[in-house]
Amino acid sequence: MIDIFVRINGREVRPSDMRTDLERALMDNTIRVMRDAARYQCPAHLRTALRITANGLSLAQLVFSVDGCCRILEGVLEETLEQL
Ligand SMILES: [Zn+2]
Repeated sequence: MIDIFVRINGREVRPSDMRTDLERALMDNTIRVMRDAARYQCPAHLRTALRITANGLSLAQLVFSVDGCCRILEGVLEETLEQL
């Protein structure tokens, strides 16, 4: 099972930490797109990412990093996630 982390200001946050409807909606959306990305298989190695992390100062300004089998998988997923 892939690991998905969301970190705000370096601290891991979970859906239960969200205080407002807006925060909950942003968090739900972030996790949904990360789970979608987690299903993508590397065309060369037929493997999915090992870990996807979202880091940022707020849920609205996240930068994604992907750990996987190779730079192809990592690059494709990071680029895809940045556009969402
Ligand atoms: Zn690969």
